[in-house]
Amino acid sequence: MTLIDGKRISAEVKAELKEEVEAWVASGQKVPHLSAILVGENGASETYVASKIRSCEEIGFKSSLHRRPSTVSEAELLDLIQTLNQDPDVDGFIVQLPLPDHIEVDRVIEAIDPKKDVDGFHPINIGRMAKGLPAYISATPFGVLELLKRYQIETAGKHCVVVGRSQIVGLPMSILMQRNTYPGNATVTLTHSRTANLAEVCASADILIAALGKPHFITADMVKEGAVVIDVGLTRVPDASKKSGFALQGDVQFDEVAPKCSYITPVPGGVGLMTVAALMYNTLRACKKEIYP
Ligand code: NAP
Repeated sequence: MTLIDGKRISAEVKAELKEEVEAWVASGQKVPHLSAILVGENGASETYVASKIRSCEEIGFKSSLHRRPSTVSEAELLDLIQTLNQDPDVDGFIVQLPLPDHIEVDRVIEAIDPKKDVDGFHPINIGRMAKGLPAYISATPFGVLELLKRYQIETAGKHCVVVGRSQIVGLPMSILMQRNTYPGNATVTLTHSRTANLAEVCASADILIAALGKPHFITADMVKEGAVVIDVGLTRVPDASKKSGFALQGDVQFDEVAPKCSYITPVPGGVGLMTVAALMYNTLRACKKEIYP
């Protein structure tokens, strides 16, 4: 069994991006600028945004953070988005999710200029991705693809089962795995909470991608001998032994599943770290105007 090391790969991707940024800036071009909008005081969101800003510093990007209270109105948020859409110095920006209930998430995402939508959540980017056109691919599926690529895991002709059909993980993941490219060319089954015989379907997977947000849901009986298991799940569970008071748990019962796998990602230390590297990758593409010339 090979443990897929998200920490090592994300450091590798970031080091490559840093070199690319240095060469880009040395040639007289602008410093890439990623902006983030953070609404309210959600602990997990604070952590994610802090890590994105830290990565910008490491790589040589400029970053800016726009904080708004949880009481911000949707109209105020849409105004801020318009300001960032029009700011020529901002290459890309993200609105950290989740948003408070009184704000319509789809309206917010659709207000982002697709050229600056480095999270890849805008319908135009999702549609272009589905058609195989250049697009920002959302960070988590992109991170998974990069792990498969860097470990040279064969995907063509394999049965890939994705558990979870969310707009930001499961659905794009399934579209990407069936594309006529590498990684891709898999025969994909997209599953969800209404899937019948889920355990059986999972057990037929050569590549199993778990993204449902239910800690330790995938058990050894759901995994085929020699499968590749990618655990996207990241759930905070209370843990008094940790300084933070919580531990992060994946969707896979790692201890019992790992011995059956050819490759597996740990949690933490797997997909989660790749997500930030992928966002940085998209931001550099935005600055270089590679997706939308
Ligand atoms: P989500 O929007 O809550 O979607 C969960 C999906 O799982 C839904 O499609 C749901 O089915 C399905 N599901 C729930 N219970 C199920 C069950 N018992 N059997 C089969 N399917 C089930 O979650 P998400 O945003 O995609 O996130 C999923 C997990 O990935 C979470 O743990 C999240 O924290 C993590 N995540 C990690 C990263 C990262 O950086 N590594 C990034 C994003 C998300 P229905 O559609 O039928 O309800």
